[in-house]
Amino acid sequence: MSSPGQVNQGLLAALRVLREALKEEKLVLFLGEKISALPQPATLGDWWTSVQDESDVNPEKLKKLEEDYLQRLEDRPSLPHVALRTLGRFPLILTTNMDCLVERLVWAPQGIVGEALRIDQLNLLASAWPNLHHDVIVKCFGDSSLHARATVATKQRMEELCRSDGEEARFFEQLFNERSVLFLGCDPDQPLYSSALQRFAENSKTRHFVVVPARQRGVEERGSLSVLHVELDLPSLAQLLNPSAKPLLPPTDMTVPKTTKANTDVKQGGDNTPGCDVIQLLCLGTGKGTTAVLTGEPSSSMVVLHNSRPVLLVDVGLGVTQSLLHSVAPEKFPDAMFVTHNHSDHAGELPLVLGGTAQRRLLAGKPRVKLLCGPKVLEPLKIHRLSEMAYQMKPDDIADWLICDPEGDPIYLDDVKNFKLQAVESQHDIPCYGFLLYYKDELILGFSGDSGFNPELYDKIFSAPTVVVDGRTPSSQWHASFDEISAYSKSREKKPRAVYVTGYGTAAEYTTDDSAITRFERGLHYTLWSGENKCPELTSEGTN
Ligand SMILES: [Zn+2]
Repeated sequence: MSSPGQVNQGLLAALRVLREALKEEKLVLFLGEKISALPQPATLGDWWTSVQDESDVNPEKLKKLEEDYLQRLEDRPSLPHVALRTLGRFPLILTTNMDCLVERLVWAPQGIVGEALRIDQLNLLASAWPNLHHDVIVKCFGDSSLHARATVATKQRMEELCRSDGEEARFFEQLFNERSVLFLGCDPDQPLYSSALQRFAENSKTRHFVVVPARQRGVEERGSLSVLHVELDLPSLAQLLNPSAKPLLPPTDMTVPKTTKANTDVKQGGDNTPGCDVIQLLCLGTGKGTTAVLTGEPSSSMVVLHNSRPVLLVDVGLGVTQSLLHSVAPEKFPDAMFVTHNHSDHAGELPLVLGGTAQRRLLAGKPRVKLLCGPKVLEPLKIHRLSEMAYQMKPDDIADWLICDPEGDPIYLDDVKNFKLQAVESQHDIPCYGFLLYYKDELILGFSGDSGFNPELYDKIFSAPTVVVDGRTPSSQWHASFDEISAYSKSREKKPRAVYVTGYGTAAEYTTDDSAITRFERGLHYTLWSGENKCPELTSEGTN
C-alpha cells in the first residue's frame, strides 16, 4: 500500500488495464448498494428492511424510495450516476439494487432503451449471449417493475446462486470467464458479495476488478480478482479512467450563464431556460462508412437546436433516424436539412426520412422541408439517391431544394432570417461540402463535412468559435487524421474555443488523447451560443 502522493505501480498498471477495457466497451459493470436510492451509507441488508413487509417485498415501498430519491435530485444531484455516464458505456450491467436509477439517470439521458431481467430470467440473456441486441441490466434481486418484480424468493435465489451448479450459475461462470467485470459501490467483504466474488471472480480466466474507497492506495490480488484500493470518489475515478470526457453537469443543472458572449460547454440534456437564448448542437452519431451496418452505432450526424427546438439536421446516413427519434418526436423534426454528400453513411436514410416527413408535413399543412446541399451534390441526391421512390413522389414535391453555392450568397434556414449557412467545399472522393453557420450574423459553427486535411478549407472553418471536423486514423486524402487536425489547431494563432472530431467510428476507434481536439460524443449537447433573449422570437408554432 502507498500513502497519498506516492505512486503505486501495481495500481497504476491495473487502472491502465481498466481504461483499455473501458475503451472497448466490453466491460461488465456490477453495481452495489453504495450507488442506489438507499440513504447512505447503505448496506445490502438495508434493501430488505426498507422494502419488505411481513412475508414479501412491498413494491409500493420500493417505488416510494425511488421517488423520494428522484425528488431530492434538485438539492443533491446524483453524482454517482452522472459519473457512470462519464466513465463509459456498459452494454451489460449487473446490480443488487432494486431501484430503477440506472435506467432513469444513466440510460435515459443517453437515449438508451434497454431491458431489465432478474436472476431467474438469465436464460433469456444466456440464449442470446454474446450477442446483446440492446443494453441489459440484470437486477439480482428484482425491482418494482412488472418484468423484473422483486420477491423474497429472488433474494434466496441470489444467495443460492453462489453455491449452486445449476444453469444460471454455469452461465455466470461463462460470463466471468469471457468478460471482465468491474464492481463498484459494493463492499467485497460483505458475505453475499464475498461468496459471489470467490465463486465467480477469483477463479476465472479473465481479470476482474473491484474498487474499494480507501485512504491508502494499492492493489490486492485475490486470484483473478484485483481489489483496487483508491482514495478517489466515483466522479474523480471516472475522470481518471476516461480523460477525454468532460466533467458532466448533473441532469438537473440546467443553468445557462446569462452572457451575450458565445459560450461552449457540454451537457447531457438540452437547455430551455426561460429568458435565455441558447443554441446547441446535439451529436446523433459519429460512425463512419460501415459503422452503422457492422456495429449498429449511428453514422455521423448532428442536429442544431435553438432553445431546444431542432432547426437543422446535418446528414441522414444509416442509423441516424433512430438516433434522432431518441430525442426528437417525428412531428418536431427540423424544417431544414443539410446533406454533405451522397455516401450511404451521410445520405442513406434520406429517401425514408424525406418521404415520411413530406407526408407528415402535408397532413399538418406545413410547408415542404428545406433540403440544403452543395451544387455538385444536388443531382446525386435528387436523381440517384431518391430514384427508389421516383414513381411515387417527385423530389421537387417532397422538398424545397436549396443549392448552397460556396461562391454565392448564404442561405437562410428560417423565415425570420436568424440562421444562415454558407457552404464550403471539402476534399472528398465524391463532391462534398461543409459549412459555416451564423446566428444573427455572428459565426457560431464551422463544419468540415467528410474531408481530407486541406489548409484552405481549415482556414475557413477554424474561424468559427466551435469547430466540428471529420477525423480518423489512418490519414488519407479523403479523411484528415487526428494528428493533422491537432497539429493545424495548435499552429493557429487564433484558436477556436473547441475543436470536436466526428466521423471516427465507434468510441474505441477514437485512439488519441491529444488535448487540442475533443471527441464528439453521441447523445451530448454542445452549447454553441447563449445569451439573454430580450426579444423572444416566435417559434414556427407561434407565427401563424
Ligand atoms: Zn464520405
